[in-house]
Amino acid sequence: MSQPIRTCIACRTKREKKQLLRLTGAGANQARLDQAQKMDGRGLYLCYSIECLKKFKGKKFLHRHFQNQLAPGLLIEIEDCINGRPGQSA
Ligand SMILES: [Zn+2]
Repeated sequence: MSQPIRTCIACRTKREKKQLLRLTGAGANQARLDQAQKMDGRGLYLCYSIECLKKFKGKKFLHRHFQNQLAPGLLIEIEDCINGRPGQSA
């Protein structure tokens, strides 16, 4: 009920924060995957969805939010995270 709601930047769907992948580092340093959702900095959220990852890769998001500075392997890391999504445990 009191879960914070965030919007996926790819498909604009609103979901509970825990149900989204968090990326951090927008606008400043290299973007990184923030699995614990605890890193400082502006965060962006993405569904656990390959479709959303494709949109994220294909559109202007990278430039707009990260100035194309993604950590090496980040997109692969995100994909692995989507494919191996842990359950609701933790
Ligand atoms: Zn989405």
